[in-house]
Amino acid sequence: MSFKLLDGSELAETVRREVSDGVIEFVAEHGRAPGIHVVLVGEDPASRVYTRSKEKASNEVGMVGKLHALPETTTQADLMALLASLNDDDTVDGILVQLPLPKHLDSLAVLDAVRADKDVDGFHPVNVGLLASGRPGLVPCTPLGCMRLLAASGLSLKGAHAVVVGRSNIVGKPVAQLLLAQDATVTIAHSRTKDLPAVCRTADVLVAAVGRPEMVRGDWVKEGAVVIDVGINRVPKAGEEGAAGKTRLVGDVCFDEAKERSRAITPVPKGVGPMTIAYLLSNTLRAASLRAKASR
Ligand code: NAP
Repeated sequence: MSFKLLDGSELAETVRREVSDGVIEFVAEHGRAPGIHVVLVGEDPASRVYTRSKEKASNEVGMVGKLHALPETTTQADLMALLASLNDDDTVDGILVQLPLPKHLDSLAVLDAVRADKDVDGFHPVNVGLLASGRPGLVPCTPLGCMRLLAASGLSLKGAHAVVVGRSNIVGKPVAQLLLAQDATVTIAHSRTKDLPAVCRTADVLVAAVGRPEMVRGDWVKEGAVVIDVGINRVPKAGEEGAAGKTRLVGDVCFDEAKERSRAITPVPKGVGPMTIAYLLSNTLRAASLRAKASR
C-alpha cells in the first residue's frame, strides 16, 4: 500500500488559485471585486494575527478585504450597529466576526445577527439547518478543508466508515454532515464515548477534532485508514529547548505512530490549518456569486 502525506499548504495554494480565477470572472461580470469584512473586538494577540492574515489573504486573491478592529470596550449595541450596516452594504459579500469575543458580549446573538447569505463562517442557524438538510448554503471552512484533503487521498467515501472524534458546532458536527452527504457511514465520538480506541480502530476515515495533544495513538488507527488531524495544540519542546520556554505545534493525533498504519494522513502544522483560510476565501466568492444570482 502506498502512503500519501496530505499536504495542506500545497492544496491550499491550489484552492487559492481557483478562487483567484473565480474573482477575475466575478469582476468581469459585476464590475467589482467580492468583499470580505472581518470584525475584531479587543486586543487578543492571537486574534489580531488571525484577522490580519485573513485580510491579507483576501487581498492576495484580488478581493476587497477590510478589517474592523474595535476596542475592548465596544458595547453590544455598537457591534450590532456595525453588523447591521455591513448587512445592508451591497459591496460586502462576506462578514466574519472573530471569536472569541470579550466576555461582556453575547456571542450567539452577534453570530445570529450576521445575514445568513453573508455568513462566510457558516455558523448562522440558517446555514447549519441547510447543511443538516442537505440543501445548498454556506458551510464552515475547516470542514470544507477536511473534505478537500480527503478527496486528495483518493479514498472513496461511499460506504466507508468514518469516525469523527469531537462534536463541536465548528468542526465535528459539520464535518460529520459532509461525510454523510458523501455516503459515508458516520460515527461521532466525544468525551463520553466508551472505549474510544476501539471505536477509532473501526474507522476507514478518522477525523480528530478534539484539542488534546497527540491523544490518538498509532494503535487506534486501522491499517490503511485515512487520518485527518484538525487539532492545533502548542506544547513545550522536548529537552533543553523546552526549558527555555520554546514550544511546537502538534495535532490531536500522534503523527509518527499513526503514519505507520495509515494510507494517508495530514501533518500538523501544514495540514488542515492552511485549508481553513483558503476555504474562507472560497466561501466569500461563493457568497458573492449566490447573492448576485439571487438579485438577477
Ligand atoms: P471544542 O469545541 O473544544 O470541541 C472538542 C470536542 O472534543 C468536544 O466535542 C469534546 O467532547 C471532544 N473531546 C474532548 N476531550 C475528549 C476526549 N478525551 N475524548 C474524546 N473526545 C473528547 O474544539 P473545536 O473547536 O472543535 O477544535 C478542536 C481542535 O481543532 C482544537 O485543537 C482546535 O484548535 C482545532 N481547530 C483547528 C482548526 C484549523 O483550522 N485547523 C479550526 C478549528 C479548530 P464533548 O462534546 O463531550 O465535550
